[in-house]
Amino acid sequence: MDYRLVDIRSVKAHRGIDVRNALSSMATILRENRVTRSIVVNDDDVVADEESNILYWSLRFLGVRRVPVSRGSTVEVNVSLEELGFYEDVNPEPYRVFQDTLELLYRNWPTPLVRLRSLSGDGYTVWAKLEWYNPYSMSIKDRTAWYMIVRALEEGWRGDKIYEATSTNTGMALAAMGAIHGFKVKLWIPKSIQKVSDILLKAMGAEVVRRDKSLTVEMISEVKEAASRDNALHIDQFNNDANFLVHLRFTAKELEVQLKHAGVKLKGIVGGLGTSGHMSAITFYFKTRFDNIKVYGVVPAPGEVIPGIRRPETGMKWVHWSTPDRIVDVKLEEAIEAVLSIARKDGILPGLSSGAVAAAFMKLRDSGEIEPGHYVLVFPDNGFKYAEQLSAYFAKHGS
Ligand code: PLP
Repeated sequence: MDYRLVDIRSVKAHRGIDVRNALSSMATILRENRVTRSIVVNDDDVVADEESNILYWSLRFLGVRRVPVSRGSTVEVNVSLEELGFYEDVNPEPYRVFQDTLELLYRNWPTPLVRLRSLSGDGYTVWAKLEWYNPYSMSIKDRTAWYMIVRALEEGWRGDKIYEATSTNTGMALAAMGAIHGFKVKLWIPKSIQKVSDILLKAMGAEVVRRDKSLTVEMISEVKEAASRDNALHIDQFNNDANFLVHLRFTAKELEVQLKHAGVKLKGIVGGLGTSGHMSAITFYFKTRFDNIKVYGVVPAPGEVIPGIRRPETGMKWVHWSTPDRIVDVKLEEAIEAVLSIARKDGILPGLSSGAVAAAFMKLRDSGEIEPGHYVLVFPDNGFKYAEQLSAYFAKHGS
């Protein structure tokens, strides 16, 4: 029996499925690097059975352009992800001329992957993925905010208010989405976060409330209640699977393309855990597709505050879908010292969670826990928001 490769947008699926229920099917596709059976559709191009529905959604979550379909019953196929347009998501605008500020986000990807001289040597080569090259919050959270809104709009949301708890970056990116799409954004931020955030968020047009809490997650129930009272959408980066999917479909995929281009065979990836969105997706993607890649999640040591990351026991959704090989604790001062070292040797100023990631890498290297080879460090944002913390460090330790 025959099958056809058709544009995925021409296929109609009735029932969206939970991302969790597509995980094993997505893992099979990623591992085999191909699709081995067709999606069965009826005469109106509607997905015809449950198995096909899971395959359809798995491929849609992974971001392919084309899918193999057959009528009547499923057929064996052998179509590579490449042929399905899997890599067409990585589609930068070469001359950097953009039609609007949304393109400025997704047609600017991949974000840079740069070899850091200061951390490389003795057989180790360190590559930093610079997520501050995203346009709205200058952070990795632009990806999350954008995709949560894309999916909400796809699912038919047409409201005028979004509420969210944030440590700044998701809030700034949501404020940008509100400006572009024309909805209001109200944000809850904990007192532990630097004061400049209020100014930045207000400048971007958001309403900001500060709460006497140290973690964003402690405000989730308040935000949820306020949203239901005010008829607003609580977009909820901590539980919204768009946060996992955007990194699976874009961040991890583009990193793979970049490493391939550089001819790098990777030993490991180090990154911070906040909602756990980006590192869980990267872990899932790389561990499924490659043997022997180790992944390290970085969190603040007990009692320490490092904006953007937090301890796993405070509750994270996706880290349980795809666990890092090890969690590394870092103190704020260790993170700041790593920031200053990179700033003074490589000439770029990473943010505090990026500093924590670099400090974790140094700990792993210096303890002999990781062998020489190529490593990627994911740097979520840069240091410009953290002058307050840097200034407190200088006041205590001098420069
Ligand atoms: N670092 C910074 C500066 C962040 O803003 C965040 C998230 O808000 C993270 C790290 C953690 O990223 P994720 O939420 O994907 O775990």
